[in-house]
Amino acid sequence: MISVFGSANMDLVAYVPSAPKLGETVAGRAFRTIPGGKGANQAVAAARAGSQVAFIGAVGDDAFGPELRGALFEAGIDTSRLRVVPGPSGIAHIVVEDSGGNSIIVVPGANGSVTGCSAEDIEMIARSRALLLQLELPLEGVVEAARAARTAGVPVILTPAPVVELPDELLGAVDLIVPNEHEAAAITGAADPDDALKALLDRVPEAVITLGSRGALYGSRAGDRLLVPAVPVEAVDTTAAGDTFVGALATARSEGRSPADALRFASTAAALSVQREGASTSMPSRAEIDAALT
Ligand code: ATP
Repeated sequence: MISVFGSANMDLVAYVPSAPKLGETVAGRAFRTIPGGKGANQAVAAARAGSQVAFIGAVGDDAFGPELRGALFEAGIDTSRLRVVPGPSGIAHIVVEDSGGNSIIVVPGANGSVTGCSAEDIEMIARSRALLLQLELPLEGVVEAARAARTAGVPVILTPAPVVELPDELLGAVDLIVPNEHEAAAITGAADPDDALKALLDRVPEAVITLGSRGALYGSRAGDRLLVPAVPVEAVDTTAAGDTFVGALATARSEGRSPADALRFASTAAALSVQREGASTSMPSRAEIDAALT
């Protein structure tokens, strides 16, 4: 079982010819509410890729709370550690222009209440084969979850997004960090992915830098280096490619696959996802990943 300690947001997506400027009102073409959040997306990706998954986080007592729980439940995810707190659920207000460009406002809502782990959360983490973390919850909560995993000997995989200053007390409990190339550059100050990888390995034992359509670069302190090319496909929507990659990577690692095999599995899952629209809607099943690998 994989635990995800992370955010659940309702994405409120308005499609407009062009985004309104301050003081302006524009007519939108369409509107959709889509369950999202990096934590929930990684949980769904891992479940589709074949893992049993438990989600630890919070939703509000508004109308979105049951919808967000329902989306996780439908994906077969254990939501027994998803708490309901007074106030609104987390939301991401997304404006998508006809040009394909977008602007996003994230309001953490209930996610902001997850400042630590309950005894039951710690027990869930300790029973896991891996803990997935991102940075859309308060940092003190993320640090506490990482420490709980470290104490129990459970591997911790961190997606450092959105980018914040990463304290040593967090990185000291992380086994594998998976930034995209922009995050890797922001964290290390090194624009070149090889240099960024070296700098990351000064702080964590293993790192993967995802490079979009150029693939993914893996390194370990033990001296391994791998550049896994992306699977060449016609991309229609790369939303949540990174979350699909991480969910699948965690699944493959928890099954004991080698780094090279786990990266191939993750790249294949992500390549399938970029050929379909949306976030969780684009994530492939285990059967689809296995078929594409053969
Ligand atoms: P997002 O923020 O959209 O979730 P990201 O920026 O976190 O994505 P990327 O580095 O863009 O992550 O992509 C993650 C992985 O997805 C890549 O390492 C690659 O394996 C796969 N991928 C991304 N874009 C493509 C593409 N156009 N074709 C094939 N594979 C892709």
